[in-house]
Amino acid sequence: MSTTERPRILVVGGGYVGLYAARRILKKMRYGEATVTVVDPRSYMTYQPFLPEAAAGSISPRHVVVPLRRVLPKAEVLTGRVTTIDQDRKVATVAPLVGEAYELPFDYLVIAMGAVSRTFPIPGLAEQGIGMKGIEESIGLRNHVLEQLDKADSTTDEDVRRKALTFVFVGGGFAGAETIGEVEDMARDAAKYYTSVKREDMRFILVDAADKILPEVGPKLGAYGKEHLESRGVEVYLSTSMDSCVDGHVVLKNGLEVDSSTIVWTAGVKPNPALARFGLPLGPRGHVDTSEKLQVQGTDYIWAAGDNAQVPDMVGRRAGNPNAWCPPNAQHALRQAKVLGDNVISGMRGFPQKEYSHANKGAVAGLGLHKGVAMIVMGKVKIKVKGRLAWYMHRGYHGMAMPTWNRKIRIFADWTLAMFLKREVVSLGAMETPREEFYEAAKPSPAPVAAMADGDKSKSGEKASAS
Ligand SMILES: Cc1cc2nc3c(=O)[nH]c(=O)nc-3n(C[C@H](O)[C@H](O)[C@H](O)COP(=O)(O)OP(=O)(O)OC[C@H]3O[C@@H](n4cnc5c(N)ncnc54)[C@H](O)[C@@H]3O)c2cc1C
Repeated sequence: MSTTERPRILVVGGGYVGLYAARRILKKMRYGEATVTVVDPRSYMTYQPFLPEAAAGSISPRHVVVPLRRVLPKAEVLTGRVTTIDQDRKVATVAPLVGEAYELPFDYLVIAMGAVSRTFPIPGLAEQGIGMKGIEESIGLRNHVLEQLDKADSTTDEDVRRKALTFVFVGGGFAGAETIGEVEDMARDAAKYYTSVKREDMRFILVDAADKILPEVGPKLGAYGKEHLESRGVEVYLSTSMDSCVDGHVVLKNGLEVDSSTIVWTAGVKPNPALARFGLPLGPRGHVDTSEKLQVQGTDYIWAAGDNAQVPDMVGRRAGNPNAWCPPNAQHALRQAKVLGDNVISGMRGFPQKEYSHANKGAVAGLGLHKGVAMIVMGKVKIKVKGRLAWYMHRGYHGMAMPTWNRKIRIFADWTLAMFLKREVVSLGAMETPREEFYEAAKPSPAPVAAMADGDKSKSGEKASAS
């Protein structure tokens, strides 16, 4: 951490908003005008819309993340977690990856900590569930699913096999529908290489408490998405929820009970709970309350945007809805970050703040190779696209939205290679415990000691019987 006399702009979080806001500020800033410090527990930004494709092996996981130090060479990037903010002293407390927490003074503050999985106290969920918010989960899910095929192929125990081949996904929004679509596609592909595992042996189950999936693309395309998944053998249960999943025994409210080794939780997000310790004004659901200029209410040196902020949707409000808020998605996060960056510069120079206003441009979702849905909004017209064309639109849009040319090129190269070389279906589950095999080889063997003890025992036994 540098100690400079320049004012410090502290950006808490290096995700979508943090990365783009820091880049914007650095681009607009005069030389030496301020120090931009980005704090994040991860050293990289994750492009979350690609997590389902990374889980399916269509994209290399490393290409879905953007190293912060590389793309922000003029910023100070600190790896750690901001734990508290003292507004009176303008000081943040940072807990680094290792060692003692320290204080970091700031002059201007950007809150961009995003969201975490929204969970409920469902018995068994914490022990059995896996989320889909980070690249680690995406890699873990892929290895785990392929490992289940290996397990099923290797056992003669029908119960073990059935549990391994049952995959339950809870939550049918973008994250859930895309992930089940991609993972089912991968498992179907992988099954071709097994002798005793067929797609028909697997059970894919999607559960949602709402009466539709993919609400982001509207009811018609959502219904198409459901029918499409069902045509691939996915069981979709709507208007129901998971009551428990203790030891992998899944019980749904509609009465269905199955045993499953894979429970993926994608039932929405909630603002980062760490915000509660920052002493900032929060909305009813825990978001930082911001004005339409992205300034935190009641302050002139703190801004917030993205999934952790409640930002008024000015397009909706002008259309007559006084309670319209921007939904938590990448489309808004990216655009808010740019306005936020400009407003930080204006705030520092004493200029007026710009309003954030963005009309929804639509949404695209991929449901596996060559399958997708897309809704494009052009003024008052909504164009609905499905199938292969929508899938190309999904790939084209996200491929181009991926930050940095370096990552864009790598992603397009992954897709091109996959066209010719087929999908990689190897499970590297042992990656999660890479030292295990070496430990087994290197640990001191207890065998000679045991042999000696046995030998001694038999000798003493002989003696005992002889005496
Ligand atoms: C699987 C999935 C698919 C999605 N698909 C789409 C899509 O197709 N289209 C779309 O528009 N949106 C999509 N989204 C939503 C989109 O990715 C998010 O809206 C967007 O990432 C929000 O950006 P953000 O900067 O607010 O949060 P994030 O990008 O999550 O960044 C938050 C950052 O804050 C850091 N952080 C957390 N706590 C602390 C702390 N205490 N101190 C410092 N840093 C901290 C985190 O490590 C993280 O890097 C998807 C999301 C998921 C999970």
